[in-house]
Amino acid sequence: MVDDPDDVTFDPEMSINLPRPVDMKDDECVQDVNVEQEVIDIIEEDTEDTENSEIEYSSTGKNKLLTYSNSEEEDGLILVSEASLRALAKKIPITECENKSCKETVSLSSRKNASGITLNWMCPKSHNSLTWTSQPVLPNGVMVGNFKICAAIVMSGNNYSKVALMAKFMRLGFPSASMFDRIQGQYIIPEVDRYWLTIKQSTQEELRATSIVVAGDGRMDCPGHSAKYCTYTVMNQTDKKIVSMEVIDKREVQLKSGQLEVRGFRKTMDDIKDAGIEVKEIVTDAHPQISSIMRKDFPDIRHSWDMWHGAKNLGKKLHAAALEKGNSHLKPWVSGQQTISFTALKLAMVTEMFYR
Ligand SMILES: [Zn+2]
Repeated sequence: MVDDPDDVTFDPEMSINLPRPVDMKDDECVQDVNVEQEVIDIIEEDTEDTENSEIEYSSTGKNKLLTYSNSEEEDGLILVSEASLRALAKKIPITECENKSCKETVSLSSRKNASGITLNWMCPKSHNSLTWTSQPVLPNGVMVGNFKICAAIVMSGNNYSKVALMAKFMRLGFPSASMFDRIQGQYIIPEVDRYWLTIKQSTQEELRATSIVVAGDGRMDCPGHSAKYCTYTVMNQTDKKIVSMEVIDKREVQLKSGQLEVRGFRKTMDDIKDAGIEVKEIVTDAHPQISSIMRKDFPDIRHSWDMWHGAKNLGKKLHAAALEKGNSHLKPWVSGQQTISFTALKLAMVTEMFYR
């Protein structure tokens, strides 16, 4: 095998190097992470902190700052059927125009606005006796429910089309795609960016001048070789905080999808270095170009492979070895090797136990 690390087919010499990070305690080894539950915990924690306080929805550029109070008057949202609402509205005792010189008969009209509705009691001369909206209206004219639906889709990591389809099945009033795009672009993304930068700066500040063990991996927007974007994330192993994250656009890498992860890795490593944080060990997948960058540019940082790739590559080596003459006794081990490796790694308290 040619030892050319820049060749994407290059398979580095097999060396399972999956030690438990020095700083990791026994009970932190191989934990199952339930992202949804973690997010719910964070929301509940934040809700306790901000109960009855003012929540600001800020925006940048030409849009005015949105502010509304998360007080007793505006807390949760509920579903109300149109039939129930009509029945209730009919009980409102307005039959005659409230304009003193008019006294015409008032009729009830309604105007739906995605998840909300506005009711108007109006006479034929367009005198408005009463207007009622099913949700508070923000200073930018958007009903709170519509705004919250758009924000919640993004914040919960969902997909607009799927949630909109669900709403369609229910005949539930729902923001249109253009309303979603506008709210997402004008208010939600700028706020998410601002919040992320605050969190990142605070995490990096905490870790400045310390020496940490991190894990890094890239996630593509779609599988295969047609990915347009890659999000490369580096997490601190001890407290699971995200130390750095970069989103790479295919256009940054001359439209070569295969280069997305490498560029993401490079940018996050540079970001961590610029923040003055020392990395003593990084765990990544067995990407040959990442291994090459580590050898050339970060020789002082220990580079380890994650368990899945380590076990997979060990399986390949074992399979090749079993095919050689006189090694047939290895064959029974090949199929179960990955399971054995995972189990051994889960049980191993120290690296040395795994090698035994
Ligand atoms: Zn009137």
